[in-house]
Amino acid sequence: MTEPINFNALFLGPKAENYDFFKQMLVYLMDDHAEWRRFFHPEDPLVVTEDEKARPDFARTLQNTREALIELAGNLQVSSNPWFSPRYLGHMNADTLVAANLGYMLTLLYNPNNCAYEGSPATTALEIETGRQLAALMGYDPRTAWGHITSGGTVANYEGVWLARNLASVPLAIRDCMPELVEGLDDWRLMNLPVKDVLDLVDKARERGRFDEVRDRSVRGTGMAGRDLGVLLVPESKHYSWAKAADIFGIGRENLVPVPVRDDYRMDVRALEDIIDSLAAKKRPVLAVVAVVGSTEEGAVDDVHEVVRLRERYAEKGVSFYLHVDAAYGGYARALFLDEENRFMEYDEIKKTHADVGHGGWLVPEVYEAFRAMSCADSITVDPHKLGYIPYSAGAIVAADRRVVDLISYFAAYVFEKGDDNPMLLGSYILEGSKPGAAVAAVWMAHRVVPLNANGYGRIIESSIEGAFRFHRSILESDPLTVAGRRFEALPLTRPDLNIVVYAFHEIGNGSLEEMNRLNQAIYEQCSYKSGPLYISDFITSKTSLTEEEYGDAPLSFVKHFGIEEKEWRSCGSVYVLRSCILTPYLVNNTTYEIYWGNFMQSMERAIRRLYEA
Ligand SMILES: *Cc1c(COP(=O)(O)O)cnc(C)c1O
Repeated sequence: MTEPINFNALFLGPKAENYDFFKQMLVYLMDDHAEWRRFFHPEDPLVVTEDEKARPDFARTLQNTREALIELAGNLQVSSNPWFSPRYLGHMNADTLVAANLGYMLTLLYNPNNCAYEGSPATTALEIETGRQLAALMGYDPRTAWGHITSGGTVANYEGVWLARNLASVPLAIRDCMPELVEGLDDWRLMNLPVKDVLDLVDKARERGRFDEVRDRSVRGTGMAGRDLGVLLVPESKHYSWAKAADIFGIGRENLVPVPVRDDYRMDVRALEDIIDSLAAKKRPVLAVVAVVGSTEEGAVDDVHEVVRLRERYAEKGVSFYLHVDAAYGGYARALFLDEENRFMEYDEIKKTHADVGHGGWLVPEVYEAFRAMSCADSITVDPHKLGYIPYSAGAIVAADRRVVDLISYFAAYVFEKGDDNPMLLGSYILEGSKPGAAVAAVWMAHRVVPLNANGYGRIIESSIEGAFRFHRSILESDPLTVAGRRFEALPLTRPDLNIVVYAFHEIGNGSLEEMNRLNQAIYEQCSYKSGPLYISDFITSKTSLTEEEYGDAPLSFVKHFGIEEKEWRSCGSVYVLRSCILTPYLVNNTTYEIYWGNFMQSMERAIRRLYEA
């Protein structure tokens, strides 16, 4: 077993503790790059000569650059979010890995464009490699899977819809061109073929040299007009990229059907079953089901294993659907479960190795099973720029069966650079065109230094989860705050599935939800960019509103916990909550934790005091 990584060496650090090392590497990469330039045809003459440099307008131009940089630095310092600090417990942000930053900075100087191999002979290969690594992280066979880096989870979700949509239109296209391949199958059966069977049919079409013809008869040739490819089922906790995807890909918002979540904010798989049953009764196909691993607002992990089981049961009834997992947030946490041979460890093994984590164990069997079952999904979104601790912009999509790519590609078949594994024109297999090789290099560097297993990313993410559970427990156990003669309690929304803690404050005895919402809004305004320069903030958090419109009655039990009656929920229709994504790995140290928890409670008290003493 290799030695586990020490995460204290991985980040610049809250006090720039690793600055010397970082600077040394920066100097190294600048020197290295300058040499690279000089040794390209050393016989060529200097262009920027010393005479040129001596001109006054030369100096003035340099001065302009310096002044602009100073102005930008000032702007950034005044208005940036201090992600690096354990005082920042807001959005899905934290310090980024030094390895990733250095990889990005070095590669930026070469400015590769991963759209085409010609523009990025070095970093196209890295994109294919990191795609394979992420496929392996998800439990796919990297030899037959496909993965690549996108600008983020949004675009990865778009690609997921694009794949599912084009795939869904293939069986009818095959019937149009080669009815003998699907003899005896009616529309309903054709719309419910398992993904693998559709791809096998595509292979047959290809063998007969008729693949292009089929593709031209698929949705991409004939368009969405007049077609019913079915509905896209996404839990209520969905990221808003799904609504945009339904719009962009011609699915239509009315065919984006929300699946209720329970009061733990995981998709209600029984409700999913009811929805699919009633669709099947009307002979409406399901274009795809999306399960979320790490919901954006709550960090909830849907029961992916239950969805997979449901799909198996439906297969027996001749109903099938494409399964996409939106693990933009939670995807990297799968590293926690993998040993160095990339084996998904048994539950007891993990409980044993991580016995000290989470005060009685954060890992519940459902979350474990959900992560395990991700390998059964057809495609998965996973964002390196979230729990991968990599700078923007780096998302990714991985698909279990690389053959699907041909359904969206603009080359007849996957065309490789001679004898090797790199696509000549990556831009023709993906949604984006020109794209930064630097972001890919950052991902590659991070994976190189921090392995995608329990000893690498598992360490960082586990520490962040432990911090989140400490925070969660402190909220549960803290005494009410007394401010201006009033008493205020706080409650967490749920037991976290990962490292996001959602909570709200409430004045004991208050029965008005509107009043409670006002209180939490006031706290947020004191603990965010709204209160002025973030640099002087004591504590920074984020917020969200859980509305009846989006979540049905899922938030009702939380509201009732505070002694607020149901009719308040009905009339108000939303509960305003504070949301802390705890990505920092530093809250595992007792002393550090106590300091930051103390800061937090003081900030809360001050914020409440300002409201009631104003
Ligand atoms: C963040 C997130 C997205 C969108 O990802 P971007 O990288 O911001 O585009 C999609 N789905 C989920 C669940 C997310 O948390």
